Amino acid sequence: MAEVKLRALGLREVDFGDYDQYLTALTEDGRKIEILCKGARRGGKKQLPAARQFCFSEFILMERGGKYTLREADLVHSFFALADDIERYALACYLSELTAALTAPDEEAPALCRLLLYALYALEGKKRDPALVEAAFEWRVMAENGYAPDLTCCGVCGRTISDPPVCFSVAAGQAADADCAQRVGGYAPLHAGALRALVHVLTAEPDRAYAFSLGGPSHGQFCDMAERYVQYHLGRGFDTLRFYRSVALPAQPEPPVRKQK
Ligand SMILES: [Zn+2]
Repeated sequence: MAEVKLRALGLREVDFGDYDQYLTALTEDGRKIEILCKGARRGGKKQLPAARQFCFSEFILMERGGKYTLREADLVHSFFALADDIERYALACYLSELTAALTAPDEEAPALCRLLLYALYALEGKKRDPALVEAAFEWRVMAENGYAPDLTCCGVCGRTISDPPVCFSVAAGQAADADCAQRVGGYAPLHAGALRALVHVLTAEPDRAYAFSLGGPSHGQFCDMAERYVQYHLGRGFDTLRFYRSVALPAQPEPPVRKQK
């Protein structure tokens, strides 16, 4: 057995046996690991407050053959405040499930951990529209996992798209110029704001990915396409997303900014 020290974010807790628990966690370098937390449920009270879902902690683990057992956990930051708001909590659960679906025990994806941490900070801070945090996360994690759409070149004829609108097909996962889009079918012209937002979330540093706002029809298009992009290319739905939908208020585009006199 080897002692391992690492930082990780708890994604999911699953009860095991009478007193134990497995914590699925995302390491700082973007690997998904399972940690056996012995006695975590003993005494009717959670024994290890830092080895929990939505806690970013420093762990000391015992490792053997890729299996981890908890020795110690020291809290760095907890996102427990999210639990006060069912909508934000449900969304955080979906972002965690999506992350778990896109990560593996032996593949490093450091950007993913930062993207998820900053998404949770954005939800916790309540200053960002949850619908935009969700969509930005969806677009960016798909891009980090090999589904990055090229928005500058037409996927049909290969030429640079020089005139708006840039059209996009969720199923094809690519952009097209207006002529090719019309000829081939299945493409929707992107609203200028949606295109700008998309370029921003695909290129920004993870800590800036959620720092934008969007209103009007661009908001709906950006968010709706993101969700469909995930489900189409991963070929699956998510229980946590269905739950989030059942508790979320309909997406509210941000009101127009009133001009100062
Ligand atoms: Zn073309």
